[in-house]
Amino acid sequence: MKVFVTGGAGYIGSVTTERLLDEGDEVVVFDNLERGHRQAVDPRATLIEGDLRDASRICRALRDTRPDAVMHFAAYALVGESMDRPELYFDNNVVGFVNLTQAMLRADTNAIVFSSTCATYGQPERVPISEEEPQRPANPYGESKLMCEKMLFWHQRLHGMRTVALRYFNAAGATAKYGEDHEPETHLIPIVMQAALGRRPSVSVFGEDYDTPDGTCIRDYIHIADLAQAHIRALRANVSGAFNLGNGNGYSVREVVETARAVTGKPIPVETAPRRPGDPPRLIAAAEKARRELGWQPAFPDLRAIVESAWNWHCAHPDGYAA
Ligand code: UDP
Repeated sequence: MKVFVTGGAGYIGSVTTERLLDEGDEVVVFDNLERGHRQAVDPRATLIEGDLRDASRICRALRDTRPDAVMHFAAYALVGESMDRPELYFDNNVVGFVNLTQAMLRADTNAIVFSSTCATYGQPERVPISEEEPQRPANPYGESKLMCEKMLFWHQRLHGMRTVALRYFNAAGATAKYGEDHEPETHLIPIVMQAALGRRPSVSVFGEDYDTPDGTCIRDYIHIADLAQAHIRALRANVSGAFNLGNGNGYSVREVVETARAVTGKPIPVETAPRRPGDPPRLIAAAEKARRELGWQPAFPDLRAIVESAWNWHCAHPDGYAA
């Protein structure tokens, strides 16, 4: 298939591009390289530099390439930033989505796999979280993704578009070539890796007084190679709808640090810091629907394997893609 990947220079988009190409698909990456990296774009893909906020640019790109399907990763994805500057999220994530889907309709591209998030659930009533949990986002990032999910529903219903929303829990890990490099970095596992490499003095643990066994927040970490595989399954399966992607295992911040100490053999100092606003204590996926309907089977459900892959990548790229 010919797949049009927006955000293919980003963390999850780069790995999915790599895996699509490995399976023999043709890939066109559309990316503005604002937060992604040119070096993260697999050289076998065609790169079109462009911004989704530029409606004529995305229209032309889809008309010229006429893909069979779109995988839409390009978006801003920082909860804290979205609380400071919500307008950025409504512009890039929502206006960008409207431009993309309009361009798809004009180019007769009738299938989309969309990057959504467990942030659309906000503070869940029940954990593990199923797809039926009410969606009440607690920040503009989650809200922007939920707005797109709602538009997907109507495109499916009224235009017969095939639409899949994949709600990721905590994406982590790396393949041999592609890994996580954000500036500034805010995610736990790359921060722990930077501390292990001596690139930062310590890891701040945001809150140790939560109602969890060791007092720190619990998350469901999912290997990006498994996320990529879920996208490819969604592309090949003849389904529409929303699917949670997680392992169903929760690990606390302290457990992540302990695992990283064991994997790296480094001391990784930690210090207690205040809670980060908006952090729910426990986010764990119920992801049986993806297993059942997409035939998805995570290959790296173990936190240790996820951290090992991140460590290998960070050792090979101590300065990220900048090197
Ligand atoms: N976290 C932390 N210190 C850091 C970064 C993150 O204690 O320097 C915690 C954060 O509060 C959350 C968990 O680690 O409970 C995962 O955070 P991350 O930003 O990686 O992902 P999120 O769950 O916010 O999407």
